[in-house]
Amino acid sequence: MKLLIATRNVHKLQEIKAIFNMPAIELISINDFQSLPEVVEDGSTFESNAIKKAVILAMSSSLWTLADDSGLQVDCLGGEPGVRSARYAGEPVNYSANNAKLIKAVIGMRERAARFCCAIALSSPSGRSQVVMGTCEGSIIDKERGSNGFGYDPLFVPSGCRQTFAEMDDASKNKISHRAIALNRAIETWGEMLKSCPSDWTLQARRSGRSERQVSEE
Ligand code: IMP
Repeated sequence: MKLLIATRNVHKLQEIKAIFNMPAIELISINDFQSLPEVVEDGSTFESNAIKKAVILAMSSSLWTLADDSGLQVDCLGGEPGVRSARYAGEPVNYSANNAKLIKAVIGMRERAARFCCAIALSSPSGRSQVVMGTCEGSIIDKERGSNGFGYDPLFVPSGCRQTFAEMDDASKNKISHRAIALNRAIETWGEMLKSCPSDWTLQARRSGRSERQVSEE
């Protein structure tokens, strides 16, 4: 079956593809479609934003859809940047400006505990959805270190590690990250169901005697 991954973020997509490795499920990206709607992420929680993205894109594409909403919570900043992580320093999204703003905000703070959070929502083509969460605890440092990954990776040292996420190789980050934890929960919770679950295209094709491709291109 085909599963639509509802993100235009190439880094997230790479991580999701590396972790969500199920041979029976073909992952396709919203970048492969021309006319899917842009979803405004205006929810107050990671879960509500992930569900909103998954449901709107599943109903628009007629495909089972997986959506990620994620971000960084810093305790001494009252949980900021939180759901506003992507646009912490304003529009358009700018990772360097976000990191510069975060460094400024934590200067002088002794307690730097933080966590990355990731909500993964799954929606059926008819809009039925469920959501799972993953978190990765760590702390924020004063100066960017490393050039792998994306976003706040150069400033985040996971608990029990010496390297920032940006100093780790992909495989090491993908073993412990918030996204890995949420995706592994998603596979545990929905994997078997997804393997045996025909897409709406397949169902429509079976009912009408046309090929799945003909139906998907209409
Ligand atoms: P979203 O597209 O609304 O989910 O925004 C996620 C934002 O949170 C990104 O733009 C990053 O700033 C941050 N973020 C989420 N996951 C990660 C990660 O794995 N590494 C670094 N930053 C992340």
